[in-house]
Amino acid sequence: MLVTRLKEKDTVAALITGKAFIVNCHGCKEAGFPEKEASEFQKELSSEGKVTGILTTEYICNPENLRLHLNLHSKEIDEADCVLVFSCGVGVQTVSDHLEDKRVYAACDTYAVPGGQGVTPLEHDCRQCGQCYLNLTGGICPITACSKSLINGQCGGAKDGKCEVDPNMECGWERIQRRLAMVGRLDVLKSPVRIRDYGNEVKASE
Ligand code: SF4
Ligand code: SF4
Repeated sequence: MLVTRLKEKDTVAALITGKAFIVNCHGCKEAGFPEKEASEFQKELSSEGKVTGILTTEYICNPENLRLHLNLHSKEIDEADCVLVFSCGVGVQTVSDHLEDKRVYAACDTYAVPGGQGVTPLEHDCRQCGQCYLNLTGGICPITACSKSLINGQCGGAKDGKCEVDPNMECGWERIQRRLAMVGRLDVLKSPVRIRDYGNEVKASE
């Protein structure tokens, strides 16, 4: 199972330089989402004129489902400078992949809690690390897209764009750099990322 928790509101609000289009994912049922808190935060952003539109659906980790829903909101997405996603890390990565020339941000952190989890044919993976880095890596997870789960840039071992650990996969950090360049955010790589705060664990009973 997994739960998502809202990131610090000030941190998320600071990411919005103009207006945002919001995506809420209210599935799957084995995941816990901060629906009430997210809704209150979104009302605040709307009242400040920072929202072009809101899509609330489920299973945004299904690319086909997501594409159909996003197409219905293409005008509101065009009007926005960024897309703010309230979902687990897989959902954010799926949106980011679909809108790769748009700044896509995670509004939540994803935590693992004990228990079974449904099996879904996902194109992306989230290890539920509890401190989501996607806002610093162009929506590509450094924990799962890099064989060494590096969070401060590549190891330098890639050859012809392939990972030195697994030559069958693309170097995750080369992908991250390309994506950040595409959305004009290469500057974020100049600031070292703090390693995960393990004091932030979520207990199964919470
Ligand atoms: S950084 Fe990766 S593993 Fe951690 S919450 Fe985000 S998507 Fe999941
Ligand atoms: S080559 Fe790239 S993906 Fe592979 S371990 Fe190094 S940085 Fe990570």
